[in-house]
Amino acid sequence: MTQMAETRSGDAGEDQAPTFGNFIGGEWRPAESDRTFESRNPADTRDLIGHFAASGAADVAAAVRAAEDALPAWRLMPAPKRGEIMYAFGALLAREKERLAREMTREMGKVLVEARGDVQEGIDIAYLTAGEGRRMFGDTTPSEMPDKWAMSIRQPIGIAGIITPWNFPIAIPCWKMTAALICGNTVVFKPASDTPHCAALLIELMREAGFPAGVVNMVTGSGEEVGMPIVDNPDVHVVSFTGNGQTGREIYTRGARRLKRISLELGGKNAIAVMADADLDLAVEGILWSAFGTTGQRCTACSRLVVDEKVADDLVGRLVDRASRMRLGSGLDPETDVGPLINSSAVGKVGGYVEVGTDEGARLVTGGSKAAGDGLQHGWFFKPTILDGVRPMDRVAQEEIFGPVLSVIRVDGYEDAAMVVNQTRYGLSSSIYTRDTNTVFRAIRDFQTGIVYVNAGTIGAETHLPFGGIKGTGNGHREAGHAALDTFTEWKSIYVDYSGRLQRAQIDNQ
Ligand code: NAP
Repeated sequence: MTQMAETRSGDAGEDQAPTFGNFIGGEWRPAESDRTFESRNPADTRDLIGHFAASGAADVAAAVRAAEDALPAWRLMPAPKRGEIMYAFGALLAREKERLAREMTREMGKVLVEARGDVQEGIDIAYLTAGEGRRMFGDTTPSEMPDKWAMSIRQPIGIAGIITPWNFPIAIPCWKMTAALICGNTVVFKPASDTPHCAALLIELMREAGFPAGVVNMVTGSGEEVGMPIVDNPDVHVVSFTGNGQTGREIYTRGARRLKRISLELGGKNAIAVMADADLDLAVEGILWSAFGTTGQRCTACSRLVVDEKVADDLVGRLVDRASRMRLGSGLDPETDVGPLINSSAVGKVGGYVEVGTDEGARLVTGGSKAAGDGLQHGWFFKPTILDGVRPMDRVAQEEIFGPVLSVIRVDGYEDAAMVVNQTRYGLSSSIYTRDTNTVFRAIRDFQTGIVYVNAGTIGAETHLPFGGIKGTGNGHREAGHAALDTFTEWKSIYVDYSGRLQRAQIDNQ
């Protein structure tokens, strides 16, 4: 298999769908086992996108060997030169933006404008990272001794294992791979099994951009059969993972046994607080966008509305009115507000949480079930859902649902709101709507999340600022911005003594 995809000769009907391989050592090739798995359109499961390599430990081992072979030359290539290839990659993403966005909507369902935004994030981070090739700053600092030079530089760690989810199938792999690569690491990438087609298109652009053979390798297949062998491989020195908390903890534990660097970006239970003095028209827009954008399947999605009792009835009334009128359908249709969930088990999970919520005493005020009807019968659609009267410690206020479900918690004033916002084990994103400047700054200080928005929803991160969460959302690393370089580099401190004599630090200068 020399090309990215092949159509099997003799196949008929829907099996005209192409077959994609792994990308190892600069070549597309089938899995050692020759097994494949399918990717289908969640808005219409009759649409078969392709067959993808169902790989295993042998394929991972081959990818790691290729990454190892490519490492010496790549780490010695001057970082500005690596930046030039990165820039070319960004330009190719820009050239292919519309095609990638449409294929993304087809494969994972988000509406087209959001898919374009996802690709744009990839473009932005590629250009930002290209510039990092000319910065990659270390420190030069005075020595405590005379005639001695002191400085620190960043060096690559080695081979980076990159494991990503399906909800941002271009942006998240780009965040991780661009940072790893600009620092001089080589990469073994395992994309989510729900979005292997987006991953293949991305990798093909990286090949075209001119990353040398073996610098970027992709192996598709399940978490158990591909993800775990990447984590366990002794030659993979750093693993960057985004996904759910349970998988993240398992990866962290296994990686710890080999003292690997493990960067985790996990779930969220993000809250928007609306104070009594807020601009409710503005708040409605931000809440709907944050709760139901990407069908609620964003790590930064707003799943808790913490609203002052004084304006709660008014606000919830407006939200119900708008949410109940949102149009569901294929994300390729410009009329669609909300696309499908990713797969059947997501529909089961979200429906199960609605039951949990109502059993706990919440009032279902809109939505609450799988959406049927014209054009929806072959997809995984779920109605935008609002549960009112939720208590802060109820399961629907504590557990990540990852679907279009908003839990409304009523509070009395700022202190109460801040307490409820923080009453979760997660700490990714939060927001406050208020017109009071003092309250704004108190929220910035008090809200226990890695990202705080003021008079805006919980989503909308920009690529030049650090991205990540505290508490159960991660383990202290950050993506994007120059903070991402910390995940993929080792610091090296260098002392150059030009005094021509032995100078003993902490001793000869006393
Ligand atoms: P997931 O099930 O944890 O999967 C993420 C990736 O890990 C996939 O590639 C998956 O492979 C792989 N994987 C699964 N089990 C594995 C194992 N035992 N060892 C190694 N890899 C394994 O998460 P998801 O359902 O795709 O994504 C949704 C979650 O991601 C949510 O919790 C969301 O909040 C979180 N998320 C966080 C951020 C952030 O920046 N904080 C951003 C986006 C999403 P398969 O696909 O083959 O199962």
